[in-house]
Amino acid sequence: MPKCVFCEIAGGRIPSRRAYEDEDFFAFHDINPQAPTHVLLVPRRHVESLADLTADDAPMLGRLAILATTLARELGLEAAGYRLVVNCGEGAGQTVPHLHLHLLGGRALRWPPG
Ligand code: 5GP
Ligand code: ZN
Repeated sequence: MPKCVFCEIAGGRIPSRRAYEDEDFFAFHDINPQAPTHVLLVPRRHVESLADLTADDAPMLGRLAILATTLARELGLEAAGYRLVVNCGEGAGQTVPHLHLHLLGGRALRWPPG
């Protein structure tokens, strides 16, 4: 099985520009940012996608969302607004099969996204 790039990053075996970490979550700046601030928040536990979560994961998902709002505030994104995105499946643009939340901000964000 090929190694999961986000498990490698969360484990510190692939370098990244870290934005936050605790025992359950890791956040780092995207290598190919789509906005002046583009951070990826990942649960350390390997779950492929949003579609793999069950009702038992509701607390984890809630913590992930609150972590994103906290980080957005700390990174100075709150006043101008920011966007949280989860791409679920290849057809939606998911390229890394380890659940992650994109936090984007620092520029005007149009709707709908492409
Ligand atoms: P997805 O397309 O799966 O929703 O998002 C995956 C994101 O991970 C992409 O925005 C991509 O730029 C980012 N990414 C992929 N590999 C790496 C890496 O090795 N380091 C960092 N920092 N970001 C990565
Ligand atoms: Zn993983």
